[in-house]
Amino acid sequence: MTGKNATEMLQADRAGIARAARILQSGGLVAVPTETVYGLAARADDASAVAGIYAAKGRPGFNPLIVHVDTLEQAEALAEFSPQARRIAQAVWPGPVTLVLPRRDGAPLAAGVSAGLPTIALRMPAHPVMRALIRESGCVLAAPSANPSNAVSPTTAAHVAASLGGRIDAILDGGACEAGLESTILAIRHDASLEVLRPGPFDLRRLSEFGPVGANIAAGIEAPGQLRSHYSPGKPVRLAAGMPEADEFMIGFGGIAGDVTLSAGGDLTEAAANLYAALHSGGASSQPRIAVAPIPETGVGAAINDRLRRASASR
Ligand code: AMP
Ligand code: MG
Repeated sequence: MTGKNATEMLQADRAGIARAARILQSGGLVAVPTETVYGLAARADDASAVAGIYAAKGRPGFNPLIVHVDTLEQAEALAEFSPQARRIAQAVWPGPVTLVLPRRDGAPLAAGVSAGLPTIALRMPAHPVMRALIRESGCVLAAPSANPSNAVSPTTAAHVAASLGGRIDAILDGGACEAGLESTILAIRHDASLEVLRPGPFDLRRLSEFGPVGANIAAGIEAPGQLRSHYSPGKPVRLAAGMPEADEFMIGFGGIAGDVTLSAGGDLTEAAANLYAALHSGGASSQPRIAVAPIPETGVGAAINDRLRRASASR
């Protein structure tokens, strides 16, 4: 945070976006809507602004950030794109896919952005407000999720205000996030192999034309962000629960009802969009524990279960 003022609440209209862009240009921190979750943005070329992200989140310095761009040209100034990487970027962007690529020598990025790794994580978001902000500020933006480290990610401006209010310069309110889960992270290796480092909203079957896709989700933590315990609502979480015990806040799905439901109709896309709001509600409830109904492992259900396993992992 650059000043001593309270966090400004901005609407995502022209005036709000212009104000947010000025704060970012001068090295401030602004929480911004994207189609995945709210991000905590700072200009990626400013070491003290980037340090501010780590400080506001209490994020360990070994956990790198994703840089958000408005154009492929901006991305290519930051990373080495093979012809294959360029084809993939053109196929998946804009959208909820982050590409991990070799960092370009001399790229105008604060060292803290990639936490000492030789690679850089890049994404072109689809959200019009985030895109307008990058254009208006003229800055590519480093932005992890806008929550304290290890806590549940925010999908509304109110979630951000509840946890980071007073610690950041502004929150740009663009309504609820559509996808509700962090981006799919895909590493493109020198040998042209593809590796999913984090499952997300993107349907991986769409990548099959680019070659075999491996997964490195639970194992080797090249990306320290793949922490086993993450997304914690601050109390124990029991998974695959058929019904709640007396002291549990129940998160339902499909035929299993609850205090809240991810999707009464059993729709996984709807469930992803509602997941973090449900975990925030469970965390804020008076019940000391949370139970979650079983979620099928198909499609985006795999990404939902990935987040739930980390939310339930004891620390
Ligand atoms: P967040 O936006 O909070 O979900 O965090 C961004 C995540 O992106 C990190 O936790 C890492 O898992 C991943 N990431 C960022 N940069 C890299 C990189 N250079 N290599 C691999 N993963 C990365
Ligand atoms: Mg995060």
